[in-house]
Formats: sequence, structure tokens, C-alpha cells
Amino acid sequence: MQCILCAKPLEKYLYKNGFWIYRCNSCQLGQTDLKKDYKRFVKEFYSKGYYEGDPTRSAYADYELDKPLIVKNMSKLLSFVAPKKKTGKLLDVGCAFGYFVELALSRGYDAYGFDPSAFAVSKARELVGKKRILEGAIEEVAYPKASFDVITMFDVFEHLENPLADMKKLSGLLKPDGIIIIATGDTQSWAAKIMKRRWTFFIPPQHIFFFDRKNVTSLLRRAKLKPRRWYRVGKWLSLGYILHLARTTGESKIARVVYKFVKGTILMRLPFYVPMKDNMVILANKQP
Ligand SMILES: [Zn+2]
Repeated sequence: MQCILCAKPLEKYLYKNGFWIYRCNSCQLGQTDLKKDYKRFVKEFYSKGYYEGDPTRSAYADYELDKPLIVKNMSKLLSFVAPKKKTGKLLDVGCAFGYFVELALSRGYDAYGFDPSAFAVSKARELVGKKRILEGAIEEVAYPKASFDVITMFDVFEHLENPLADMKKLSGLLKPDGIIIIATGDTQSWAAKIMKRRWTFFIPPQHIFFFDRKNVTSLLRRAKLKPRRWYRVGKWLSLGYILHLARTTGESKIARVVYKFVKGTILMRLPFYVPMKDNMVILANKQP
């Protein structure tokens, strides 16, 4: 495997969930060896179980049950967009059940979304209507060039197989004065450094790339995007989500036991504010 930024051979970094994560010695970019065809993987993996607590997937315990907390987190992210672009045409990349599209519509944006998951797309279309949601990956969807004021990409970047090609395409969809906002994990955050292999962001196979500020900047610049603002955000998470993540990725036996007791009870929805701030929220615009 080669670094997509430096074209240098990658070195083995850590093994988790049955997959090797490699790392570039030069730019520190991490990359999962997926060992299978990405397109087929996406179709199989992001199905019903991904959103409903499949024990073999480090994803969502119950995405619908967590909607109030998910929207609360999204609302925080939208507050970074509003001072730059109060209205306009907005595209949410990897829109899942369409919660962000719904939120943006309620705040006056002309919002659209797409997702490669057929299951998620059917939910999103129920929520915001068929014409606002497309099914497909970034390389597959067709929108007019230079047509969006805002593109949002929350917890999606790390799932991509070809982030450079994908960002080039998205950059082309932005109007010349458009902005893009990306939220992803930061391998240079204190949580990542302290937790090392137990860092909750290291969840192969769905997380494929692991960035920090420096290497993500160099990738974005190659896609003619220039980071302007950086933020870190804490997150509201439910007890169900935390336990499900811990039982599937933290390799925690206790979480496996406690999850069994909590599942199906009101305790699943118990909200926690997690100030780990192991993420980076990047607001970028097009380079002239
Ligand atoms: Zn590199």
C-alpha cells in the first residue's frame, strides 16, 4: 500500500477488528487495508444493521432513537456555517436518514443530500421528500457544476476510499464563493494520543483514512480548497451509543455485559456530553 499524498510505501501501524491500519512515516496519514472491493463493501456494510446495533459493526446502536442528540450535534456544526452563508443551496454528503437536510431546510437553506446506503436513502426520502435525496457515492451522483453555496460532510470523510478524487469532484460542485465544512477525527488530538489503539475513531473497516490538520490541509489544497477556520467540538451521545461502541471497538467485556441489560430500556437514550474533542471541523473555501 502507498500513501495517497506522498506516494511512499506505508508501514503497518495497528491491528483492530480484524484489519490492519497502515501509516505513512512521512505525513502520518493512516489508511486501513480493506482487503476487499470498496463498492461491494459499501453496499453490504451500510445496510440496516449499521444503523440498528449489529454487534459485528462498530456503528449505531439505534440511529432513530438517537435523533434528538444527533440533531443537537448537527445544530452546533450548522452554527459554524451560518455566519458565512445564511441561506443558499446546500448539499449534505453522506446524509444518512436526512436529519441534517431536514434541519437545514428548517433554517431556510435549499438543502439536498445523498448517501450510498439504499436503506438510509429510503429513510431520508420519507423525511424530506424524494426530490431532495439521491442514492449513490460521491463519484456516482450527478449535480450541476458550481451549483452549491454550502457543502457539508459530517463524519463521512474517513469513510471514503478515494478522498482526493472525491474532494476534487465536490470542489467542482461548489460555487466560486461557496464553502465546504468537514468534520472528521484528528490523529493529533490528545484523545488519540492517549488512547492509542483504543481510540474510538480507529474503527476499521468503515473508517479507512485517519487524518491530522497538516495532511488534511495538503489533501484539500490539491482539491483547490483552502482551510479557513478550524474547530473542535464535544458531542452529545446516548448511553446506548457509547456502550455499543465500547462493546464493538473498545474491546470492553464490561460494556458487552452492561449493554445487554440496557438494551430495550429507556436507559439507552440517556444523554451524555462527551467533551473528548478528538475531532477537527474544517471550514474551507475554494482557492481562486
Ligand atoms: Zn504520506
